Amino acid sequence: MNYNLKNYDFQPAYDLVAASQKILIVGHISPDGDTLGSSLGLSLGLKRLGKQTAVVFQDAVPRHLSFLPGAGEILRPDELAAAGFADADLLILVDCATLERTGNGWIDDYVPRLPLLIFDHHALRDDIPSVSLVDPHLAATAELIYWFLQFCQVPLELDLARCLYAAICTDTGGFRFTNTKVHTLQIAAELLAQGINMEEMRVQLFESRSLGHIRMLGLALSGMQKTDDNKLVWCSIDAATKERYHALPEDVDGIAGETMQLEGVKIGVFFDERAEQGTVKVSMRGRDGYNVGKLAAEFGGGGHYAASGCTIKGSLAEVQPRVLAAAKRLLQETEARL
Ligand code: 5GP
Ligand code: MN
Repeated sequence: MNYNLKNYDFQPAYDLVAASQKILIVGHISPDGDTLGSSLGLSLGLKRLGKQTAVVFQDAVPRHLSFLPGAGEILRPDELAAAGFADADLLILVDCATLERTGNGWIDDYVPRLPLLIFDHHALRDDIPSVSLVDPHLAATAELIYWFLQFCQVPLELDLARCLYAAICTDTGGFRFTNTKVHTLQIAAELLAQGINMEEMRVQLFESRSLGHIRMLGLALSGMQKTDDNKLVWCSIDAATKERYHALPEDVDGIAGETMQLEGVKIGVFFDERAEQGTVKVSMRGRDGYNVGKLAAEFGGGGHYAASGCTIKGSLAEVQPRVLAAAKRLLQETEARL
């Protein structure tokens, strides 16, 4: 199927925007390049339409994404009133179709009294009244934002292009994942034509790791474990290790993807023990055909077919065997089908 702007009914979304003046644009916790780039790009576009916008994230912007235009003006939820957005008249969720993904409940103050518009590409969604543009077939939410801004006749310009390009680049792993479709590259080409600096993008998105991250990655990889047939690979960072190295939460981001480097791997799992919350954040990756989105959903999480995650109560020693047993079941079920 060839995707384009005409696959979507953007009119109800346009009408909501047209009827509002002060717009909250909200992304998900542990923000990544797509939720940030899509939110900031949408914000720039809506400002072009004469709207006032506030981009709101519960969690801090990771250092390597702070180069995105507008990242410095992102607000925390408790800063909204002082910034003059207590009387916002539209709420837009970007890259998260469930309210729970926006954080620890701060959004509940706004949801009952504001019209809700959602742009997302995750399968899981809340059953709440909203205008929803959600398509799990898309590589990135930024593809929807690009089409929506085209629909609104917002002209492309370099900063807007940088935001959306960074978002698509992130969620396609630099255009390597199978979610990269013809239209993905067509959109990227249009964005690139605005004068994007590829060297800056690559270095910022993929080659700006902190020493803390590289140390965590090294420790995780040196402790990597696997089944005899290499099909299931896992590694972890426990809470004591993070404490010993004074690791920041973001230092363990992105390690899950590295589990997929081993020859023959089908499912990769990374465990991040979070002692303060008494939980383990589990990140899962799967080769084509291996639905790790379903695996994460078994534990109350979600995500995509090939990349998913969940947070489970308990210590690493408690959580790891449960998840690995479920991952082995998924391997068996999938291979019985293939
Ligand atoms: P990661 O594990 O790398 O943080 O996330 C991989 C994918 O899974 C992302 O698309 C992310 O949105 C999704 N994901 C991660 N953790 C959760 C979670 O706890 N709940 C849901 N619904 N999705 C998650
Ligand atoms: Mn995304």
